[in-house]
Amino acid sequence: MTDNLDGAVALVTGATAGIGEATAVKLAQLGAAVIVHGRDAGRGAAVVKGIQAGGGQARFLAADLSHPDEVRRLAQEAGDVDILVNNAGVYQFGSTFDVDDATFDLHINTNLRAPFLLVKHLEPAMAARGAGAVVNVSTFGASVAGKLGGIYGASKAALDLMTLVWADEFGPSGVRVNAVAAGPTRTPGTAVYGEMAEALGHAFALGRTADAREIAEAVVFLASPAASYVNGAVLQVHGGLKAVMPG
Ligand code: NAP
Repeated sequence: MTDNLDGAVALVTGATAGIGEATAVKLAQLGAAVIVHGRDAGRGAAVVKGIQAGGGQARFLAADLSHPDEVRRLAQEAGDVDILVNNAGVYQFGSTFDVDDATFDLHINTNLRAPFLLVKHLEPAMAARGAGAVVNVSTFGASVAGKLGGIYGASKAALDLMTLVWADEFGPSGVRVNAVAAGPTRTPGTAVYGEMAEALGHAFALGRTADAREIAEAVVFLASPAASYVNGAVLQVHGGLKAVMPG
């Protein structure tokens, strides 16, 4: 099975930085025409320029995914896509008492409602063509009691569940839906946490944080024909769990 993506159109949300940027670059290298999404037009232009300089095809679309009308506009402007990577996400850390209504809404709206609306608007055309792939970028924090990461983990746990629901709902139409549960990864978003982000890598068996390209490899695999029989998987890409028992 080939992983050639010539002729495919891919929308990658949050592709102006980090895991999304690495995913967009890799998809373009495999031949997909990539829609680079984000909010920052300057960073979007830079990513598009980089892809084009490497011989790939890309264009930028801006939208703030925390607003439902913006998400719907993005879906409309993107048009028909063969691959949808729901990567854009927010993660702010705090105890239950630190999470105010606005922070709660930001996580649910960006991490859950935006992928929900994009799938709702973009899947029907994939189904009509009898093929398509959706990859949701989730986190190891969706399945553990991550310290101070409650509402973030909860928003991604809901996305993991929707991955299973959509795999069942759309599988008969030839549309596969999978997720990558990423481990701690060096990105502009985690750079603000400095040493703390690096230290988190030591909680996993490989003992280090990931490069964004290592997560992108897994996302691109699930989006590609190489994963043609993979549907409803939440692939853990976190360097391996350490044993809870000593010894
Ligand atoms: P990042 O460096 O913080 O970049 C975030 C990206 O999402 C940017 O392209 C940003 O666009 C976009 N974005 C954020 N909020 C948005 C909004 N409201 N509307 C539109 N775009 C928005 O992110 P990252 O660390 O690569 O994380 C990417 C994904 O991986 C997220 O879903 C995150 O939860 C998940 N993840 C990350 C890690 C990690 O350790 N890094 C671990 C597990 C899972 P602009 O800057 O252009 O606005």
